[in-house]
Amino acid sequence: MVDPLARFLDHLRLDALSDSGHTLSSLLPSGRLAVPATGCQRRFTVAVVCYFAASVESYRTAFAAWVIAVRPERCPHCGGEHTSILWGSYRRWVYTTTDRCQVRIERVRCRLCGVTDALLPSFLHLFRRYLLPLIQKAISLALDAGLWGEVLADAVGPYDAPAPSTIREWLWSFAHSAEWLLPWLQRTLSALEPLTALDPGRAPAHLQTIRNPKRRAAFTRAWQTLRLAEMLYAAVRRRQPDLAFRADSLLAFLAATRGAAGRIPRLLWPQAASQAP
Ligand SMILES: [Zn+2]
Repeated sequence: MVDPLARFLDHLRLDALSDSGHTLSSLLPSGRLAVPATGCQRRFTVAVVCYFAASVESYRTAFAAWVIAVRPERCPHCGGEHTSILWGSYRRWVYTTTDRCQVRIERVRCRLCGVTDALLPSFLHLFRRYLLPLIQKAISLALDAGLWGEVLADAVGPYDAPAPSTIREWLWSFAHSAEWLLPWLQRTLSALEPLTALDPGRAPAHLQTIRNPKRRAAFTRAWQTLRLAEMLYAAVRRRQPDLAFRADSLLAFLAATRGAAGRIPRLLWPQAASQAP
């Protein structure tokens, strides 16, 4: 089992050289990332998002072998080769619409620069308990299908799980993140395929008719971000035909790609976090 993203990492590194915002290294105060971890490990920890296509249950079963398979060969912070050592694990909650369980998250530490990373399976997102495909479903139902409020909550899960306020927060966090995700996607796509037209097309009518101009602009930008993420997936897939993310893993792909490009693999802000990723 090899992380399929590792192979196109070099394609995306060129972007890290040409852009000053949100690179991993730009967020390193004195060689440490500005996302604190909790527990006895007081060093700063970020997440390396690693592709895992199967279920949470399979992840729990395959955990030990998976950790060995996806352990970074090259440190994403200093570039050191084969410098990662396993650095213990912590437990983290995973929520679905009907259940919750705990999974182990492995930490690795670079012997060269000392930065610790959490190896996050791609069905999880930093600091979010719900499965990322579920978060994507909620965002897509709102932006693509125009569902909102109670109707949206009912379509995402039964009995208000997740709560409507949680879904609302996902949407606004993603819309806020689109302010920098969209230009990053435009730059990355331009670098990968300079001749590609980057027009995401006309936003759906339900977005164009939002009365509040701030909200209309934010949600339209978020919708454009989803379209460009699909274009990026198509572009990468043309270079690497065996790369296979499922349709419900578009955000997982986006997060993993940002990680591969040397960016914080985070699609939903706010930035402040008081727990391990
Ligand atoms: Zn390192």
